[in-house]
Amino acid sequence: MTEKGLLIVLSGPSGCGKGTILKELLKKRDDTVISISATTRSPREGEMHSVHYYFISKSEFEDRITNDGMLEYAEYVGNYYGTPAKEVYENLENGKNVILEIEVQGAMKVKQKYKDAVMIFVMPPSVSELRRRLVDRATEDLEKIDGRMNTAMKEMKLASQYDYIVINDSLETAVDELNSIITAQRLAKPRMTQIIENILNS
Ligand code: 5GP
Repeated sequence: MTEKGLLIVLSGPSGCGKGTILKELLKKRDDTVISISATTRSPREGEMHSVHYYFISKSEFEDRITNDGMLEYAEYVGNYYGTPAKEVYENLENGKNVILEIEVQGAMKVKQKYKDAVMIFVMPPSVSELRRRLVDRATEDLEKIDGRMNTAMKEMKLASQYDYIVINDSLETAVDELNSIITAQRLAKPRMTQIIENILNS
């Protein structure tokens, strides 16, 4: 029997570098996948449907909510974002760790619903560095950046609701830390009971 994968929630303000950390993590772990979310926001340059997000209309999104197709969803800076449920459950059953890279409202819903979800928050090293990264990314106009900064400040105040905090100052360290958290969680006692039993009976 395949050991079920871990459900991992990764949050952090827009611009804190979650995407880059995850890209590097996947090079180190073939037992881990990132859930592809659905969103009603428009694609940014270079973003592709079914790779970065499922870009869908508001009415399609609302249909999926009604049909229980979303594991969680939230409205964020004027758009819907949500996790399609079916793919997540299938991957967990197949033993893959599934990372949901989601904002805090959705994360809190997952925490309530799945008590064994591993909750991880990524912090920037400082507020000024976060703003600099958002401006450098320059995918948004300044008004939207202000909106994201306000949201970021509110989000960072909720970091204490998470099990682990990773500070993204050095990318390499942040990736190592995230990798270690996943390894430690996979080896934690509640998940190992059956394996101990198997060894004792072997
Ligand atoms: P962005 O527009 O920068 O890609 O994402 C904005 C925010 O939405 C980020 O904080 C991201 O983590 C979050 N997000 C992305 N997908 C989902 C999702 O499926 N559910 C929720 N609740 N948040 C999401």
